[in-house]
Amino acid sequence: ILVAACPCALVISVPLAFFAGIGAASKKGILIKGGKFIERLAVCDTAAFDKTGTVTDGSLKIDRIYTANGFSESELLAAAKTAELTSSHPIAKAICAATDLSTDDGEYNEIAGEGVIFSGKRRIVCGSKRLLEDMGIDLKNLADCQVLVAIDGILAGGFTFTDNMRSDAADVIRKLTALGIKNITLLTGDNEKNALAAAKSGNIENVYFNLLPEDKVTHVTRLKDGSSGVIFVGDGINDAPALVTADVGMAIGAGTDIAMESADVVLMRDSLATVCDAIRLSKATLRNI
Ligand code: ADP
Ligand code: MG
Repeated sequence: ILVAACPCALVISVPLAFFAGIGAASKKGILIKGGKFIERLAVCDTAAFDKTGTVTDGSLKIDRIYTANGFSESELLAAAKTAELTSSHPIAKAICAATDLSTDDGEYNEIAGEGVIFSGKRRIVCGSKRLLEDMGIDLKNLADCQVLVAIDGILAGGFTFTDNMRSDAADVIRKLTALGIKNITLLTGDNEKNALAAAKSGNIENVYFNLLPEDKVTHVTRLKDGSSGVIFVGDGINDAPALVTADVGMAIGAGTDIAMESADVVLMRDSLATVCDAIRLSKATLRNI
């Protein structure tokens, strides 16, 4: 570096400390998109987490398959795969991995936080209870399934999934408290049962479920009120608006491109523990300054 002018000690020392902080973070796989996020991160006292792919590892597998209205399991799986073929959601990956059956050609309309509507020879809807209910589809006794599938307006069946918590989730939550994060909340688009199970196993006190992307924004805005700063950590398309709204949005690097673009900090190592590293480094940088 060639320093051409240095009118006072502060002009060079402060940017250099930020530069060192950003550099040290990058060695740990944490991409911080500017010095101002280090300043904000150091004073945050509130954190909110997405569930699927953030506090869970996002490697979903189909747990149980339920059929309805005379559809066979293979018809259900082929229809679900047809709808999910272009989606990057962990649910889509689990469905596509579960079958080798061929798919139809058509158009895909993915609705963040709700599911996919496919229009081809048949119209296939694959998504949440809310999405299918809004289309007036009778869910019979399958309303508890995380994902439901309708073919040409008729319920074909549903799926439940297994999704493992990240092994270090509870430990990270404990360390965050030690780092001065007083208020920790789980915000998820998933149903009540899965949300409560994840919150319990991660030891997260506050939990809200069945949330649309805009509901996550409402919660982050509410949390900002009266706090010294809110961190939101997420991975999905559905998390992008909340990532932008938070004082510091953090995206899991293994997640979607839109989450990484919307975030202020990207955790490239697909590890939740780096949330704590980022806070620790920010506090150390401000101490140096
Ligand atoms: P989370 O907030 O836990 O990451 P999402 O907001 O991504 O969850 O999804 C909420 C719910 O919407 C899922 O549990 C599922 O029912 C439905 N959903 C979202 N995306 C898809 C998809 N691609 N295929 C099927 N269902 C989906
Ligand atoms: Mg997610």
